[in-house]
Amino acid sequence: MAGTLEPIQKMVNELSHLPGIGQKSAQRLAYHIVSMPLEDVRNLATALWQGRKAIRYCSVCGNYTDGERCAICEDENRHNGQICVVRDPRDVAALERMHEYRGLYHVLHGTLSPMDGVGPDDIRIKELLTRLQDSAVDEVILATNPDIEGEATATYIARLIKPLGVKVTRIAHGVPVGADLEYADEVTLSRAMEGRREL
Ligand SMILES: [Zn+2]
Repeated sequence: MAGTLEPIQKMVNELSHLPGIGQKSAQRLAYHIVSMPLEDVRNLATALWQGRKAIRYCSVCGNYTDGERCAICEDENRHNGQICVVRDPRDVAALERMHEYRGLYHVLHGTLSPMDGVGPDDIRIKELLTRLQDSAVDEVILATNPDIEGEATATYIARLIKPLGVKVTRIAHGVPVGADLEYADEVTLSRAMEGRREL
């Protein structure tokens, strides 16, 4: 935008890279930030920087953690023989909000998408198979999103796991087709989980 000072324009550029933030919102935020006390801006920047630096993937399930293993994997009570497979850490957060599922997770960090060049080796499928060999697992619940990629991923994983003699289930279609797990409300999610069927 003509007339925008360069330091502000730089902030606008960075902010507009965030999801859901268009040029207009980025402008509004940037002008708000330059009106804030310097100390508050420093705190905001520090929280973002330090938060990002502190977070990494759990060495077991791939969920976000600030330690070696996430709080769910660390909790012995959650080692109940169930592993719920999801696309990304936001899905773990969504399922945890429903306070019903008491097992462990496995985060794939993506779904199979041949069109985008994402194959089985690009998501954490190998790590899941290793976990199944190393620990006592009775049931793998496939909770990838009910869209084309999510279904293809669930089918692919089911085919790999079934020969191992582990029960494989798929969450019900309580979640509207094409919808993201993370935006589903708790009732819908808990119905989807309860209504899961064996593959
Ligand atoms: Zn974990």
